Amino acid sequence: MTPLEYVRLAAHCTMGVGGPARFFVEARDEAAVLAARDWARSRQLPLHVLGGGSNLVVADDGVAGLVVKIALRGVDAREASGVVELTAAAGEPWDALVAQSVERSWAGLECLSGIPGLVGATPMQNVGAYGQEVSETVIAVRVLDTTNGRTVAFGNRECRFAYRDSLFRSGEPGRYVVLSVTYRLQPKGAPSVRYADVEKELVRRGVASPSLADVRASVVAIRRSKSMVLDPSDENRRSCGSFFMNPIIPGADLAAVEQRAVDPAMPRWPLPDGRVKLSAAWLIERAGFTPGATDGPVGLSTRHALAVVAHDGARAADIIAFARRLQARVEERFGVRLSPEPVFWGTVVP
Ligand SMILES: Cc1cc2nc3c(=O)[nH]c(=O)nc-3n(C[C@H](O)[C@H](O)[C@H](O)COP(=O)(O)OP(=O)(O)OC[C@H]3O[C@@H](n4cnc5c(N)ncnc54)[C@H](O)[C@@H]3O)c2cc1C
Repeated sequence: MTPLEYVRLAAHCTMGVGGPARFFVEARDEAAVLAARDWARSRQLPLHVLGGGSNLVVADDGVAGLVVKIALRGVDAREASGVVELTAAAGEPWDALVAQSVERSWAGLECLSGIPGLVGATPMQNVGAYGQEVSETVIAVRVLDTTNGRTVAFGNRECRFAYRDSLFRSGEPGRYVVLSVTYRLQPKGAPSVRYADVEKELVRRGVASPSLADVRASVVAIRRSKSMVLDPSDENRRSCGSFFMNPIIPGADLAAVEQRAVDPAMPRWPLPDGRVKLSAAWLIERAGFTPGATDGPVGLSTRHALAVVAHDGARAADIIAFARRLQARVEERFGVRLSPEPVFWGTVVP
């Protein structure tokens, strides 16, 4: 294996910032992933796994070690006992897989339409949108365990999925390279309509009993209106989507936040375990940052207060400084700490 050297990572990330990878290789098959792991290990270098770069902020100095870009392809579907088991290699583009499942009338992924990135990253943060999460359909994740070079498969429970989290993300970060993911889908299943926004969009389209394709089209339209699909002509295109997770607070803390909010309309979603999820976008706006607010070459998306956007000349350091300002103001105003959603390479997590 002969990796490339000093490859600019900004070109591989939707945020478009960040310095070079000291070493860089593209893996088109599983043997190449293993070879990359062995190469890095024999030189005692860290291994970084790159998918579509849509949830990543790379430091301006770049990253030491080897970056392996996942380019494994292949999709296989098996229908048995009234379900479909759809297995996709980690390098398959996610939205194309969703489109394919919707076209074939397989329910389970339709609300996750329009999300950038590759299949292999979907279990990492339990990708979710509009009331659906991949944890509802993932039945197996095949991985390379970088500690011993062996391939293993995890079942759904072993993945320890939670809100924007999993074993792979916070449990044992960096240990596993996802090679393929299997989703269990429902042939001719009814679409999920769990969000008021989706319902409204369906009504606007005059759809009374929606198909999977109607829900996909509605979700993509809503996402587009919020600059939440990748569109090269969109002024908000350089982002990681939502920059912060919706904060989850203990139920006992809600009264104090409500008191500070002084607005009965503050969005809140009680969770089955007694905790309460709040809207990060609402908190950011009420802390004084309106969509489109800028701070030098970075700012908030003009269409969504939760997306931090990079403009010409932006560096990773600018993004981090801005994220810290948002966090500080929200904490000062509401006593709630916002946690960032993207992964940070070579830099301190804000
Ligand atoms: C406009 C926009 C909208 C978005 N909307 C949503 C949304 O609605 N919901 C949502 O959940 N996310 C959303 N995201 C975030 C992002 O698209 C997802 O998290 C996506 O799954 C990241 O995929 P990726 O291939 O680009 O991962 P990358 O950004 O390349 O990597 C992200 C992390 O996963 C790791 N990783 C990637 N592939 C592998 C692999 N094969 N094995 C091991 N580790 C791996 C990387 O090391 C890194 O830590 C959005 C992003 C953008 C830009």
